[in-house]
Amino acid sequence: MDIQRILGMKPLTDVKSVLCVQPHPDDNEVGAGGTLARLAANGCLVYYVTVTDGRYGGSESAVSAEALVRVRQAELRRAGEMVGVVHHHELSFEDLGNYSESDVMSALIPILRDKRPEAVMTVDPWAPYEAHPDHQKVGRAVAAAVLAANSSIHADSGQPYNTPMVAFYATAYPNTYVDITDFWDVKLASILAHESQFANDEWPLLVQYFEHQARQYYGAMQMAQGVAEPLTAGFAEAFKVLSPRQLHFFPAALHM
Ligand SMILES: [Zn+2]
Repeated sequence: MDIQRILGMKPLTDVKSVLCVQPHPDDNEVGAGGTLARLAANGCLVYYVTVTDGRYGGSESAVSAEALVRVRQAELRRAGEMVGVVHHHELSFEDLGNYSESDVMSALIPILRDKRPEAVMTVDPWAPYEAHPDHQKVGRAVAAAVLAANSSIHADSGQPYNTPMVAFYATAYPNTYVDITDFWDVKLASILAHESQFANDEWPLLVQYFEHQARQYYGAMQMAQGVAEPLTAGFAEAFKVLSPRQLHFFPAALHM
């Protein structure tokens, strides 16, 4: 049973606009940079929303938090150019700050109603062992905002909008794989554009890990396509794609 088709969802690779909400300035590229570059190359409008300022994403005490915020903003723009992002929103909540899920949801509703994207993308807040509060809060806030944007709440902030689908990256329960073999170099370059985070001795090891993971996903993609002897010669990214219907009172969504 093709539940995604029954729920009226088109393939993720066919969407013409996507709003990507990331907790920190580098999450979208790490989680979905290849897919986003592929979508943008296909004419899809890629919008970014960056929720926190990433001020604590560094271990070098020589750099002040304020200076790091400015560095990371510049890196965010550079990485976005590589991917093909057409518009950035920065919500500028404090990294690891005391903001609430509800604060983020309220900030996202007018953006959703304005941009009216065919898909929303974010981190999976329900991945087991995901302990970072920004990832937990932002992923949940996005799901809540998708539901709330289609209600009469905040009636002064735009017409209700029903987002057709939500794609969670960094998920432990993928149901969708995207072939990004042709965009692998773009993905790595866009991650490395976040120099303050990745231009260090760990990068070669990290690349090995990213490659291993993307080859695993590529094999899983081929399995899902019914290829008898899956190869791991390409790269893929993995997502949990759900319709808004599956985001409320729908426990079976876990296994779909
Ligand atoms: Zn993050």
